[in-house]
Amino acid sequence: MEIIKGIHQLKIPFPKGMPGDVNVYIIEGNDGNIMIDSGWDSQESLGAFGEGLKADRLKLRDIKTIVITHIHPDHYGLASKVKQLCGAKVAMDKIEAGLISPRYKDFTELLKRVEEEAKRNGIPETELPDFRDASLWMNKFVAPEPPDVLLDDGDRFSNGSFEIQVIRTPGHSPGHICLYEPKKRLLFSGDHVLYETTPHVGFNPQSGDNPLGDYVSSLQKLTNIKVSFVLPGHGPVFNSLNLRVEGILHHHEERKRQIVRALDRGSKTAYQVAQEITWMPEEGGVAFKDLAPWDRRLAVMETIAHLKLLATEGKVASVDMDGVCLYLAKD
Ligand SMILES: [Zn+2]
Repeated sequence: MEIIKGIHQLKIPFPKGMPGDVNVYIIEGNDGNIMIDSGWDSQESLGAFGEGLKADRLKLRDIKTIVITHIHPDHYGLASKVKQLCGAKVAMDKIEAGLISPRYKDFTELLKRVEEEAKRNGIPETELPDFRDASLWMNKFVAPEPPDVLLDDGDRFSNGSFEIQVIRTPGHSPGHICLYEPKKRLLFSGDHVLYETTPHVGFNPQSGDNPLGDYVSSLQKLTNIKVSFVLPGHGPVFNSLNLRVEGILHHHEERKRQIVRALDRGSKTAYQVAQEITWMPEEGGVAFKDLAPWDRRLAVMETIAHLKLLATEGKVASVDMDGVCLYLAKD
């Protein structure tokens, strides 16, 4: 669908059996089209992509650049296949590019570190294998080719009709980028700011030590630019960026308060804290014990991210007790 003159949004479904879709954007230009994000590497995604192009009378061969906001499978998975089909160059942030191989190719070390972190954060022995391997199924939906172009914060490029500025927004992923079109004041926000859900920000071996602190700074970075429309990686386009940023910040403040309250009743591991939080507030709230293994892992990683931010704010402290990290409220 052409949502703004020269800018098309294609809804690419998740693989069979998974709800949801990802928004792929095509920006038309005199010097070729720019594609933003790609969908999962699956037949359904590729089929929907082809149909979307056809419906909007877009040509595969006109795509000259594929810009990836971050390397999660739903955004990056299909990029290499589209490149094979049309010869476009794939571009992404240089930090993000460095994460491809350790995550999708030689991932033994990463799994080892996930397991170590899981033990340190109190995951019981019986749950360790599920926790460690929870994202392995995704690898078959990603063709992990390195990009052709490495982007940096502040880079600019043009397709003759639209000018795009790269804004590095670490948090959801360490090399996540938003793409800003200053003339039309459009912000392609990837998974940094979504309208209907709060983007996941979790601590993991690739996230850096304080991903939620990074994320909050990245949200504040966006409040300095003028934005008329936000074109996100999932869900509807919207125009109230600052209001949405406030809503997301409020959510994290509330969650931090819940965590400090949980610690009022004694020292706990991140795993124990995660069990005292109501998850998925957008869906009416789900108890930790009722989450699927993948969502449990996300919940624990989010809890650790909040605890790390609270520690930098001086509100909680942590201590190592026989290889297990215990958190305490500081006042
Ligand atoms: Zn996504």
